[in-house]
Amino acid sequence: MSYRGLTAALATQHGKQRAIAPAFAKALGLAVEVPCGIDTDALGTFTGETARPGTMREAARSKARLGMAAAGLPLGIASEGSFGPHPFMPFLAAGREMLVFIDDTRGIEVVEEALSEKTNFAALDLTPGADVAGFLTRTGFPSHALVLRSGGRITKGIDSHAELGRLLAAAPEGARLETDMRAHVNPTRMAEIGKLARRLVHRIATPCPACGTPGFGVIRSEAGLPCADCNTPTTLVRNLVSGCARCSHENRQPRSDGREAASPAECPECNP
Ligand SMILES: [Zn+2]
Ligand SMILES: [Zn+2]
Repeated sequence: MSYRGLTAALATQHGKQRAIAPAFAKALGLAVEVPCGIDTDALGTFTGETARPGTMREAARSKARLGMAAAGLPLGIASEGSFGPHPFMPFLAAGREMLVFIDDTRGIEVVEEALSEKTNFAALDLTPGADVAGFLTRTGFPSHALVLRSGGRITKGIDSHAELGRLLAAAPEGARLETDMRAHVNPTRMAEIGKLARRLVHRIATPCPACGTPGFGVIRSEAGLPCADCNTPTTLVRNLVSGCARCSHENRQPRSDGREAASPAECPECNP
């Protein structure tokens, strides 16, 4: 069951081993190797020159497999991120991060994902009067790099005032500044990937109570938290369901914050 002393391939061109390797070393004794000569950008870029095929999970899986093939290892890790308006609070930006761990010796795939408002994801159209200074402050420039899109050209990894000034002076009308979401030039994103890596290794270190396979953890939630007044099931989460990466064993536990009832304001009967 142990991964101690083994090595997993991590396909990244953006230094993600800085955020991911320490968690794997500490919790599992599993080393991380970044194979050379792989092109993860071929599987999609944030700046859109290459569209990402399929779902985030499919993209992460392909990336992990690319690394495993290049390194000749049966263990692989990959990360995917996606950024846009928050699904529940559209005026906020949010980042969705996913980490996938593949173990071909056991035939399992273990996934962890998170949605976070901790992102600098933003864009600014360079119209006359645009608040460039405010944008730079808000996005954490220059510790967080920017992308300039002007005409058909995309300049990535802009991380100095001198370079930015030069590019802006030459930028045509209709140009646009965007945050660079690649992990090695975006410390906020790198930190979020590190957090997710700690959750993933915790999941990998948790064996299935039925078959002992690594990777047991929460796989979905169930709605139906009852109304405190009339007991009607609401759309609020009632239970968390944990599942195995290999067998069909599941167990159900109450939501983790200890809340046992929904308020009547959240009830379809009391507050239709
Ligand atoms: Zn009610
Ligand atoms: Zn199992």
